[in-house]
Amino acid sequence: MSKLDGKVAVVTGASKGIGAAIARALAKDGAAVVVNYASSKAGAEAVVAAITAAGGRAVAVQADVSQAAQAQALIEAAVEAFGRLDVLVNNSGVYEFSAIEEVTEAHYRRLFDVNVLGVLLATRAAARHLGEGGSIVNISSAITRVNTPAASVYSGTKGAVNAISGVLANELAPRRIRVNVVSPGFVVTEGTHAAGIVGSEMEAGLVAQTPLGRSGQPDDIASVVAFLASDEARWLTGEEITASGGIR
Ligand code: NAP
Repeated sequence: MSKLDGKVAVVTGASKGIGAAIARALAKDGAAVVVNYASSKAGAEAVVAAITAAGGRAVAVQADVSQAAQAQALIEAAVEAFGRLDVLVNNSGVYEFSAIEEVTEAHYRRLFDVNVLGVLLATRAAARHLGEGGSIVNISSAITRVNTPAASVYSGTKGAVNAISGVLANELAPRRIRVNVVSPGFVVTEGTHAAGIVGSEMEAGLVAQTPLGRSGQPDDIASVVAFLASDEARWLTGEEITASGGIR
């Protein structure tokens, strides 16, 4: 028996990067998985195909988590497809960096809408369906402790995720729903490729400061999330696990 047998999970932003690895890891551990995407339909379908080819169960569902009706429809699609909901992984996120002199309202709203409002809206919808033993895992970032220049808005969104997670851990504890945070360090993904970080001096500098001596890979994060999602982590709530190869 695998540790997530019989469970149903929604992973937001699972068409690529860390979210895709999380979806594959939860399915490998026995969960039926809803692979959410905003625009990358082909990416989400490839993740579903890989899961099904390995004998798992998954469906792809489009939803922009920053829109209340779409976040709600995403959760309802999970319950309709698989009959229940046990795990929500709030992984969807956007990152852009801007020196304070260049910060705009549009930059602020784009990042806070997806990274913070999206977490609240998906969690609100999921909280109506999660029962005893439910698990919410929010993907934050180690950046909140590194104070990286030009990351005031992005780091602010992830600091908000940490604060929200602590509150919800207490708020949902009476219903035996756990809420934990995984904070990755630098991870090689489609997103960090597109942002020009992979292969840059910035990546080299981060690796030089990383005790375990390499960049993170999506699977390094996924295995931690799979643990927190499962009953093996039944005594953990309100925790933040930094998954960064030791860089802080
Ligand atoms: P990525 O490769 O850019 O993938 C982002 C995912 O989020 C995609 O599946 C994208 O869907 C989805 N997404 C974006 N906006 C969305 C929306 N409005 N509604 C639903 N889904 C949306 O990102 P990543 O590098 O894997 O990062 C994943 C998470 O880890 C983010 O929360 C990020 O902040 C965090 N993180 C990343 C790193 C890192 O170094 N990579 C480090 C620390 C924390 P579509 O492709 O369909 O648009």
